[in-house]
Amino acid sequence: MPKLMGLRGNNSAPIEMKDCRIESKALIGNEGDGFKISREKLLPMGQLGISALQVGIAKAIYRESVEYVKNRFYSHNEKNLASFQSIQQIIAEMKIECDRAERSLEYMACQMEKGKLDMITLLEIKIIACEAVLKLANLCLKVCGGHAYSARSPLERYIRDSKAGTVLGPTPELLKELIGKIILDIPASI
Ligand SMILES: Cc1cc2nc3c(=O)[nH]c(=O)nc-3n(C[C@H](O)[C@H](O)[C@H](O)COP(=O)(O)OP(=O)(O)OC[C@H]3O[C@@H](n4cnc5c(N)ncnc54)[C@H](O)[C@@H]3O)c2cc1C
Repeated sequence: MPKLMGLRGNNSAPIEMKDCRIESKALIGNEGDGFKISREKLLPMGQLGISALQVGIAKAIYRESVEYVKNRFYSHNEKNLASFQSIQQIIAEMKIECDRAERSLEYMACQMEKGKLDMITLLEIKIIACEAVLKLANLCLKVCGGHAYSARSPLERYIRDSKAGTVLGPTPELLKELIGKIILDIPASI
């Protein structure tokens, strides 16, 4: 497995199956139902898990940024970063973005639990979570400067981790394409 940019705790590798025979009693569901099972059972859990991961990273970035701006003091005027209006606005933007993503995730989980999850909500959540964490990763560089860019800071790891949701399947591009197809009544293969 090649070394990853982020999410290094994840250990995935290609699997190749050659001349592989599996007994028919091991079949999950009926023959030909694989795609349906994948869409109805695997996709919701995958979307929920990856989105929760992205929201968690976004919240960790937010918390570390708040701590940093409160505690970064300048000796020439004894002010901290938190006292600057532009920093206050960025911190507010970070909080709004985190809350928006977390509430969307809670809504999705709630609908899932009630058995009322519609396909667009299911597809949307990962896009919302991925966009939120990428935004937070950019904003933390603005408020935490060199601290965020330093490998000694936890932010450096969060910034690397924040990119994973964009690459992990289904990618936001694919999800957007599927949402567009549903809205426009174009048959989709998922
Ligand atoms: C941390 C991590 C963990 C992973 N874990 C797993 C795992 O457990 N199991 C697993 O099966 N895979 C796993 N993957 C692989 C992941 O599912 C793939 O990286 C993902 O599906 C994208 O495939 P690809 O990298 O081959 O991109 P490519 O297929 O090479 O595509 C490159 C880019 O082009 C875009 N693209 C592709 N086709 C189209 C199109 N038709 N129209 C527009 N844009 C398109 C994609 O959105 C993508 O951004 C993991 C990846 C990462 C980073």
